[in-house]
Amino acid sequence: MRSGVFRQARWGEPLIFELSREGRVGSTVPGVEEGIRDIVGEAESLVPASLLRREAPPLPRVSEVEVLRHFIHLSQMNYGVNSGRFYPLGSCTMKYNPVVNEVVASDPRLLSAHPYQDVSTVQGILEVLYRLKVWLMELTGMDDMSLQPAAGAHGEFLGNLIVRAYHASRGELEKRREMIVPDSAHGTNPASARMAGFDVVTIPSGEDGCVDLEALEEAVSDRTAGLMLTNPNTLGIFESNIKEISEIVHGAGGLLYYDGANFNAILGKCRPGDMGFDIVHLNLHKTFSTPHGGGGPGSGPVGVKDFLADFLPVPVVAYDGERYYLDYDRPHTVGKIRGFYGNVSPMVKAFAYILSLGFEGLKEAAELAVLNSNYLARKLSGVRGFSLPYAPRKPRKHEFVLSASEMARETGVRALDVAKKLLDYGIHAPTVYFPLIVEEALMIEPTETEPLEELDRFVEAFEEISALAYSRPEEVRAAPRNTSVERLDMARASHPRTFCLSWRRYKRLEGESKGE
Ligand SMILES: *Cc1c(COP(=O)(O)O)cnc(C)c1O
Repeated sequence: MRSGVFRQARWGEPLIFELSREGRVGSTVPGVEEGIRDIVGEAESLVPASLLRREAPPLPRVSEVEVLRHFIHLSQMNYGVNSGRFYPLGSCTMKYNPVVNEVVASDPRLLSAHPYQDVSTVQGILEVLYRLKVWLMELTGMDDMSLQPAAGAHGEFLGNLIVRAYHASRGELEKRREMIVPDSAHGTNPASARMAGFDVVTIPSGEDGCVDLEALEEAVSDRTAGLMLTNPNTLGIFESNIKEISEIVHGAGGLLYYDGANFNAILGKCRPGDMGFDIVHLNLHKTFSTPHGGGGPGSGPVGVKDFLADFLPVPVVAYDGERYYLDYDRPHTVGKIRGFYGNVSPMVKAFAYILSLGFEGLKEAAELAVLNSNYLARKLSGVRGFSLPYAPRKPRKHEFVLSASEMARETGVRALDVAKKLLDYGIHAPTVYFPLIVEEALMIEPTETEPLEELDRFVEAFEEISALAYSRPEEVRAAPRNTSVERLDMARASHPRTFCLSWRRYKRLEGESKGE
């Protein structure tokens, strides 16, 4: 009998694919009692004969201990935030996830609440959502907010729909079709703008890595719908000309959109609303600690200034001084963009995170994240083969982008090889080859949570990898060696034809390649 149970006999040895043995069982079920047998018989007679199973299902025959070892082993083949080490994935804010968040979010009273329940019976959770919204509005300087979007990109899409609805309400939508996006932006920015129907106008970054004001002046016109900006930008540099930028965009009749996915740097320090932004999205699953990866669930709330509040999706969580309710009374709403009220569990975790730190604690988190980032930027840009392009003397915020272009030129070892070699140290790879304006980019974000010793071990790993690159570069290019699988063919691993989600697919592909 074929089954999908496999395990490694010993570390480093090939996988034993087939563990199933006829007659082996994992558990014993007591015999069916007489009284129940009648009920089972009756149930059987209700199922059409064609749907009744005639043979036992082809399940693997394995003992309980084998099943346990199999699944525990699979779980350990992956990198884990708590089983691995440092997780410096730039533009992702991979925080450790406080256990208290999980405890709070898995309260049975929350888990069993149903979105169709009458609001009078869910006042508690509505209060949580409302108070979270007030905190986030206060932190961003916005006047109202929707918690509906399920991700950052989803929030961007909503933001763009609001820009559209605003211009349409003024009879200017036909004319204002251009969304301006800097070339350092996260890839989701131009994609969301395009999905909302805008033409994307890209403007180059200046030599200091910031928006080039002259290029912006040239790009704006009466066709401008708005500008999407990340501040600090994806190089980790604060756009100190933000007031001028705001004047240029607003002067042309456009709106200013803030990509606040990585709000970690300025949390409690300054607010997009005070910088002139009209619309903001946040990623609760970055800045506010929910684990992410593997596709969710995420949460990308969108905040707006007063004059845009009428366009928010319905319902908006609201409070009338006595009770919490769902406000559907937004005549100019862009509609619903997500079932019910969005993903509630990341919201609960974000609220737990905010309450456990308090305002002073959030500010301190931002300060430590920025301190850690500058510490690493300084140390790593001094390691042979690496440099800090764009205004190397300018302080960074929560993240920075290192370039391995010198190392690539001199040794053939590229940013990707360095990232793979870091895996051998048990360290998660940084983001590589983003943003596109940096050659051989390694984007590093330490967050506030790692101790100094771990940051120093990261620097040591870079020093060792650099020494290896300049002495035996082929060893870096062959990394990783200590992981559960060695370097993958990334094209094959992600191509729909060769992407394997189960062992059956592997078997079929193996058959195809042998011409079976
Ligand atoms: C992560 C990120 C996004 C997108 O967020 P998702 O939740 O992955 O859709 C957008 N902008 C920036 C700057 C980001 O880091």
